[in-house]
Amino acid sequence: MITADTSIFESLESNVRGYCRNWPTVFTKAKGSWLRDENGSDFLDFFAGAGALNYGHNNDVLKQPLLDYIAGDGITHGLDMSTSAKRDLLTTLRDTVFAPRGLDYKVQFPGPTGANAVEAALKLARKITGRETVVSFTNAFHGMTLGALSVTGNAAKRAGAGVPLVHAAHMPYDGYFDGTTADFQWMEKVLDDTSSGFDRPAAVIVETVQGEGGVNVARAEWLRHLAGLCQAREILLIVDDVQMGCGRTGPFFSFELAGITPDIVTLSKSIGGYGLPMALVLFKSELDQWAPGEHNGTFRGNNPAFVTAGVALRHYWSDGSLQASTLAKGEKVGRILGELADNVPGLTTRGRGLVHGLVFDDASQASKVCQVAFERGLLVETSGSTDEVVKLLPPLTITDQELDHGLGILTGAVDTVCS
Ligand code: PMP
Repeated sequence: MITADTSIFESLESNVRGYCRNWPTVFTKAKGSWLRDENGSDFLDFFAGAGALNYGHNNDVLKQPLLDYIAGDGITHGLDMSTSAKRDLLTTLRDTVFAPRGLDYKVQFPGPTGANAVEAALKLARKITGRETVVSFTNAFHGMTLGALSVTGNAAKRAGAGVPLVHAAHMPYDGYFDGTTADFQWMEKVLDDTSSGFDRPAAVIVETVQGEGGVNVARAEWLRHLAGLCQAREILLIVDDVQMGCGRTGPFFSFELAGITPDIVTLSKSIGGYGLPMALVLFKSELDQWAPGEHNGTFRGNNPAFVTAGVALRHYWSDGSLQASTLAKGEKVGRILGELADNVPGLTTRGRGLVHGLVFDDASQASKVCQVAFERGLLVETSGSTDEVVKLLPPLTITDQELDHGLGILTGAVDTVCS
């Protein structure tokens, strides 16, 4: 039984708090794939800051350059001024990310969060096209600000927000179903139908794997078809790679597997490299129709994050090793979860790279599994429209032994809950 004095959080912090309820202890330190609480208990992290810690906690490769930068009085807050840290990051992005993939993207720093990136992407798409509607998908998650929430395909999450700020239509995210069930005709109808009074959409926003939506994995062919539908109608395709980018699915961008080039890409979470807040919007250079200062914000210049982002890109993405190890570890996770699911009625599994879901017919079992896992030293959370999916999102830098250890705890927790 884990005990901790959490009374100040309960008395002073808003009722809106969430993760502290799932994990009722007080964490003090973190290193690599582990967190430690104030009782000295260690927890293996299969959550990784909701995808913000692909390189683990306090990664030594990133830590020393960050300490050196701060020790040398490097700029911490820089609005969108030109700084040496930003120049270094842009150069690294061009040479390490864009050039090898033949991408001609411009870069916008929209603010610190994923939602900031989505807001900027929606605004830009509407400005460029002069159209208002943005189409998104059932079970999509794009953030909690009003614009991003408008394109989020979960009515329960939208419920508190009142009237959507953008016209948004939701198409079924059916690309992950087997075979031919994807209803492209239906999709075409949504894109072409102006009977509701909306014009043709400005953009379609999509995740290649829906993380919060329950680890729904779009087939490459479905993504290609969607990209083709958009292109034929001059509708901009936005890939929200906030959670699945930076290698989560194997390649740096999750859409690489489908061989598509989105018009606009949003990145955040792990792009900062050290869990530091940072976001990017990338768009084809001909779409750079912003006027100077037209989209601004105080915290667009987190220069320490630029430093760690640059080091992470150079260290992890200048050769193919992280991609290869992520895919190998992912295959192993998929195999072990598949064996587990084969033996437990009402359990299925799906995933890509190092994001996997254990899907329970009975959603209450998913949250019980997370609770038992926590008591045994593993942090793992639920996702999906009814929280029916246990989502595994370990750091990409996790070792094989740590992975085995965590999968052992998870398997034991499933046995305890489902037997
Ligand atoms: N897009 C996606 C795909 C996400 O998973 C998230 C966060 N879970 C966001 C946007 C919003 O990011 P943030 O919480 O940093 O605003």
